[in-house]
Amino acid sequence: MRFKISHEAKLIDGKAIADKIKNELKEKISDYVAQGNRPPQLTAILVGNDPASQTYVKNKMLAAKAVGIKSNTIELPDTTSQDELLERISKLNNDTSVDGILVQLPVPEHIDERTICNAVAPSKDVDGFNEINVGRLALDMKSIVPATPLGVYELIRRTEIPTFGKNVVVIGRSKNVGMPTAMLLHTDGRHESKGMDATVTICHRNTPPEQLKKHCQNADIIITAVGKPGLVRRDMVKTGACIIDIGITRVPGKEPGKTKLVGDVDFDEVRKVAGHITPVPGGVGPMTVAMLMSNTFMVAQSLAKTKITNGFGSD
Ligand code: NAP
Repeated sequence: MRFKISHEAKLIDGKAIADKIKNELKEKISDYVAQGNRPPQLTAILVGNDPASQTYVKNKMLAAKAVGIKSNTIELPDTTSQDELLERISKLNNDTSVDGILVQLPVPEHIDERTICNAVAPSKDVDGFNEINVGRLALDMKSIVPATPLGVYELIRRTEIPTFGKNVVVIGRSKNVGMPTAMLLHTDGRHESKGMDATVTICHRNTPPEQLKKHCQNADIIITAVGKPGLVRRDMVKTGACIIDIGITRVPGKEPGKTKLVGDVDFDEVRKVAGHITPVPGGVGPMTVAMLMSNTFMVAQSLAKTKITNGFGSD
């Protein structure tokens, strides 16, 4: 009689790792303040009434409070003009009591997102969306790295998933998520930005499905950032591969009228062949908030050292 050996991937518990990072930060910030520094300060600007954006900002502010970062949210109506928003950002850039600035995206359609991202002083840009930070990341220089890609980096590092010389597929090439994630994975670990030295393949909307499957089947790590439930299936995954699911989609739940969040990966099937896997929710999401806090503390320390608004400090 033959017994079927059941396999289950190791769960990468993003919530537990994020909690650990926040506890570490809380201690560091407490020491920093005990040394006579003022607490780090984070200001979020929220334009409009998008419920998802309101929830994201609220969660960020709660996390800030929990680690000892002072925070406030500037709520503006969706009729706010681009010039008014730019004026607000400029005031915050010049306000020495403010360290981190973030403008919650998306902004209303009449406002140009790139203009807004570029208006935030690079040294206070805790989201890492200013073109200076993006450019520095592309050049392997020290920069402020967007929180979600940085969260993925930390998940991989802290779970001790090998990356050096490994094959990685990043699905999704958005400038805020897919692209910087691929950047962190493929760059040189000896450089300032401490990349992960993997061989990275980037797939996107125009990657034919059969090619996507082939690339994934060859991958030691698959990182998906698309927003399409069921995109990564069991037959696309090599035995033992590590699966990082950034995607978040709200779908109808089991009970009528209820919804739930799912990722891009067919979790129940893929976990039978993968070596490691992140859940959704509870994987990358909590890491994004933790890394935003980490960026805010880094920015506060750097600004305290340099006392200028466009420096990156010396370490
Ligand atoms: P986005 O700007 O819409 O980018 C989606 C990417 O997926 C694009 O590069 C697109 O290709 C690609 N794509 C679309 N359909 C595809 C397909 N069939 N096969 C392969 N690639 C495909 O979204 P985003 O801001 O990067 O976010 C991606 C997902 O991550 C969303 O579900 C979002 O909610 C989630 N997210 C989660 C967190 C978190 O903290 N967990 C943070 C941010 C975002 P093209 O470039 O060709 O259009």
